[in-house]
Amino acid sequence: MWYTPSRPCLAPVAAMSPVVRFAPSPTGFLHIGGARTALFNWLYARHHGGTMRLRIEDTDRARSTEAAIAAIVEGLTWLGLDWDGEIVLQSERASRHAEMANALLAAGRAYRCYCTPEELTAMRERQRAAGISVGYDGTWRDRDPSEAPPGVAPTIRLKAPQSGETVIRDHVQGEVRVANSQLDDLIILRADGTPTYNLSVVVDDHDMAISHVIRGDDHLNNAFRQAQIYRALDWDVPDFAHVPLIHGADGAKLSKRHGALGVEAYRDMGYLPEALRNYLLRLGWGHGDDEIISTEQAVAWFDIGAVGRAPARFDFTKLDSVNGHYIRQTDDARLAELVAPRLEQAIGRPLDAAAHNRLIAGMAGLKTRAKTLAELADGARFYVAPRPLALDEKAHRLVADSRTTLDELSRVLAASEWAPPALEETVRRFAEAKGLKLGAAAQPLRAALSGSTVSPPIFDVMVTLGRDETLRRLADAVAAAN
Ligand code: GLU
Repeated sequence: MWYTPSRPCLAPVAAMSPVVRFAPSPTGFLHIGGARTALFNWLYARHHGGTMRLRIEDTDRARSTEAAIAAIVEGLTWLGLDWDGEIVLQSERASRHAEMANALLAAGRAYRCYCTPEELTAMRERQRAAGISVGYDGTWRDRDPSEAPPGVAPTIRLKAPQSGETVIRDHVQGEVRVANSQLDDLIILRADGTPTYNLSVVVDDHDMAISHVIRGDDHLNNAFRQAQIYRALDWDVPDFAHVPLIHGADGAKLSKRHGALGVEAYRDMGYLPEALRNYLLRLGWGHGDDEIISTEQAVAWFDIGAVGRAPARFDFTKLDSVNGHYIRQTDDARLAELVAPRLEQAIGRPLDAAAHNRLIAGMAGLKTRAKTLAELADGARFYVAPRPLALDEKAHRLVADSRTTLDELSRVLAASEWAPPALEETVRRFAEAKGLKLGAAAQPLRAALSGSTVSPPIFDVMVTLGRDETLRRLADAVAAAN
């Protein structure tokens, strides 16, 4: 090796076990494609007993904000994707990147280019006019630096190979190759001394001992450039896995309408992190026909080579169905915990202990149908809403038409045993005695207790509310009905 690099500030890792990284650019939030890339890296590391690093590629200072970095960290944390060691900020390593550019220069594997921006523009125009491929033509590649024009700050360009091919063996894409004649001598250090993107990525991945680069296939072209930089530095090229991007359900590039949102938007829509994780895993990777794959199974089964080459399609209906599954599996106390903040916001006050208990008790009857926590909160609202309960229009009419029935019924209920079969029996007997159909008693009851004409089974609702709350709600309804 012609140059022995130090590995500043970056912890050594156990030999042989893979080291992967998630390297987002903090330009907004952790979007859904980034989340899946993070998940694949995380699964790869956990499956192989390896290491997962997090590097924030914040070299675009204008667009990288603290808030965006916080959103990424929060998004990953919410999704349950943890990383090893300190977060690496790419911007803090600029001098190390420049050091390597200068080392390449000193070794004759890079050179100073004194072309001005105007000259480069003119070069491109000439190439376009001549119908040849556009790129740097090597003007300064072999020129003597003594010819350097005064007052021009040079860039540093890689002396890229001019013949042969650059070949990448990719775990997802297979073997991909490009003729070196197609790749020009890229700038690795700008005239102002700042490193360019591909150099920074290579130096960071090397210094962080990254063995496997798993990322979106929009970076495949960069991989050729990066491979050339690795070779110029006499560094081992890591394994690559370029994962196809996520498309919308209609096959078009993912847009906001399709679900190209930040992870926090999914949290706000009421998806559980384990459901989103399961869904994202299935986007592009599969284990037979299994739709529901637990995290433990995913860690045990994940295989980057089995990621499909075709773009995966994002489909809200499937996500809803996976989420519904996880909601049904979640225990009632945790569900209540998760929907409580939504309900507190909806009713504008904190839930007291009695309301919280009703919420827990109500979950069993509601979770069988809810596809999101938002739906679950909607359905549960009447359990925690303050008295007097607001009734919707239909419920209001029903209650108004059945005031006497409700008044008499509440007296009978006051003396009933408080369990679903006994309550049903009480209401049935009451209806019979009055010459009413069961529904003529049960429907106004539902309206008065739930504020609507649809609810979980009414006798279950009564048990969930408890005797006191039930009787108070009936009294409110009777008093208000007119
Ligand atoms: N920072 C890049 C991005 O957010 C990823 C670069 C990489 O993984 O090499 O798209």
